[in-house]
Amino acid sequence: MQLLDGKALSDTIKIELKKESQTLNEKGITPGLAVILVGDDAASQTYVKMKEKACDITGIYSIIHKMPSTISQEKILEIIHMINQNPNIDGVLVQLPLPKHIDTTKIIEAIDPKKDVDGFHPFNVGRLVSGLDGYVPCTPLGVMRLLKAYHIDPKGLNACVVGASNIVGKPMMNLLLNAFATVDICHIYTKNLKEHTQKADLVIVGVGKVNLITEDMIKEGAIVIDIGINKTDEGKIVGDVDFERVAPKCSYITPVPGGVGPMTIAMLLENTIHAAQNR
Ligand code: NAD
Repeated sequence: MQLLDGKALSDTIKIELKKESQTLNEKGITPGLAVILVGDDAASQTYVKMKEKACDITGIYSIIHKMPSTISQEKILEIIHMINQNPNIDGVLVQLPLPKHIDTTKIIEAIDPKKDVDGFHPFNVGRLVSGLDGYVPCTPLGVMRLLKAYHIDPKGLNACVVGASNIVGKPMMNLLLNAFATVDICHIYTKNLKEHTQKADLVIVGVGKVNLITEDMIKEGAIVIDIGINKTDEGKIVGDVDFERVAPKCSYITPVPGGVGPMTIAMLLENTIHAAQNR
């Protein structure tokens, strides 16, 4: 069994990105990222802080637009329009989830697709589905980069994606399909999840449920990617896979933390640098 070390790979990527950022500086460009953070959700605040720190070390100028949870949809839209017009900002991301009175789709659709470094805008989603270039959501993109770094080619593999959200499972499915894997996608209404995971060479899980994937659900020698982030009652961060028991059966597995999480941030930085290069 080999660990897929996302932490180490993301550190290497950040060093490369810092060099690219310096090259842009020489041309008078400082890559810029605007983050919209609404409300005081603790996890969202932590993620935004991590993104801010990563921008700092890569030479990306970041600005956080922090807003109270009572803010109106119109006001958020106004700020997005302002960011869209700002020539010094290359990327914009809206930290999700948003409060219930805000229509998330309307907010995402307001982002200029050229600045949509999270890849959530329907324009970029459509390009991904069509196998065209565009911004790809950072988490599934990070998974693809991790596989590539370990010379794991999805072509011809039976892949099973567990979790079908717009930001994780669905783009993951499309990326794997574009890479010629045969993809099964499962969600909360899937009958007999084990039947699907058991026959997969590559299992990618992003649900948010501790120990959803157990030893009996994984075939010998499978590759297992755990996207889930859960906090246990003891305050420990774990994924969706019963790591202790599943890992010995795998050829490769990601740890949590230190697997997909750091790759997500690295891909956000990379998307922002690319946006600045396209300025
Ligand atoms: P979500 O709640 O939007 O979607 C969850 C998906 O899981 C849904 O498609 C749902 O149908 C499916 N699901 C729920 N229960 C299931 C079950 N018992 N069996 C099969 N499928 C089931 O969540 P999300 O935003 O996609 O995030 C999923 C997980 O990934 C969370 O733990 C989140 O914290 C984590 N996440 C991690 C990163 C990272 O960088 N590592 C990034 C984004 C999300």
